[in-house]
Amino acid sequence: MTFRTAALSHVGKIRANNQDSGYAGTHLFVVADGMGGHAGGDVASALAIQAIAHNDRPYDSVDEAEQVLSQALLEANQELAETVFEHPELTGMGTTVSGLIRVGDKVVIAHIGDSRIYRWRAGELEQVTKDHTFVQRLVDSGRITPEEAAVHPRRSVLMRVLGDVDINPEIDTLVLDTEPGDRWLLCSDGLSGYVGEEKIAELLAEHDDAAAAAQALIDESLDHGAPDNVTVVLVGVDDTDSSSTSQPVMVGSASAPLTFEVDTSRRGVRLPALLLHPLMTSVAEDEHFEPESEEFLRELIAEDRRRRIRRRITWSVGLTLIIGLLVTAAIAGYNWTQSRYYVGVVDGQVAIFQGVQQGIGPIRLSSVYRETDIALDDLPPFSRQTVEATINADSLEDALSIVERLERAAD
Ligand code: CA
Repeated sequence: MTFRTAALSHVGKIRANNQDSGYAGTHLFVVADGMGGHAGGDVASALAIQAIAHNDRPYDSVDEAEQVLSQALLEANQELAETVFEHPELTGMGTTVSGLIRVGDKVVIAHIGDSRIYRWRAGELEQVTKDHTFVQRLVDSGRITPEEAAVHPRRSVLMRVLGDVDINPEIDTLVLDTEPGDRWLLCSDGLSGYVGEEKIAELLAEHDDAAAAAQALIDESLDHGAPDNVTVVLVGVDDTDSSSTSQPVMVGSASAPLTFEVDTSRRGVRLPALLLHPLMTSVAEDEHFEPESEEFLRELIAEDRRRRIRRRITWSVGLTLIIGLLVTAAIAGYNWTQSRYYVGVVDGQVAIFQGVQQGIGPIRLSSVYRETDIALDDLPPFSRQTVEATINADSLEDALSIVERLERAAD
């Protein structure tokens, strides 16, 4: 059982800077994904990690650890608000935080935002945190499926983060069992948004060393284009009390000295503009936007409804067109069959039929146009056989002249 712990962060292939931060200590492990404002994402995640990391120590009870960890997130929130007060140009910065403390055979988790914590046990990966996202709300209320959420254009909209918006944000806390052999994965959405859970589980199973597993996860994200910063913290549980004996590691923006320089060229697109021009979200540097009010949330839900209605209208218009074309084709086909005639037999008498002999299932495409006085029995054997097999006519005139010839043959 040599898995131990690891932390790795990568700026990805598109972003100009790394706004993620990660911490792997002895008892405490944290991932934070910063966002927003003008240049504050990297500051936000680094400040949060630094505000939380000093709580890395052994705990006597899960209650104590739970209390300390959730309090640490609230203190980080306070620190972000104070920093924004001193540096107003950072207004709107925020960060997700997912933190984990191991206490013997339990882990204590505190979580806000859309970074994730997974438990990998015996090859099975289970997400234990819940995303505080707009799309997760839509999933919870049964409006969309998890599959639709994964590709929803508003999937990056966060409902809760640490930042300068809410002085008392709601933090999720969890206490879960753990056992030797478990592997805990903390990651930013730069991993979970682009690498499927099956693949993550497979890569964790393939590597007996946490550092190698972390590298494999980052590489997999890069293989998928890594449009976002990607951060991975891994914790292997063995039968010792602590999870790591090595030095604590900081990665991402928390590993560099804090700078408060604002790069005005990366000024975020303002929210109303985003709502009016959804395409702009794809070019915006910041993918996360925290809704500032219930009104904004209502606007998002209304926008989502409009989008679904538009899609439904497009579908029904398309379907109506297709049905229209099919009906038109069917009518044209039927009209063509009714321009055809043939000569055959009805009740032992020769008759002219309108239409074609072939039918479509139970639908017959011909009917008796006119019966004649010629009895089949009056015809010479060869003519009789021919009529029994039916004789096609190109037109009504053609059919009438065939009947005339049969009349002469019958005499
Ligand atoms: Ca991210």
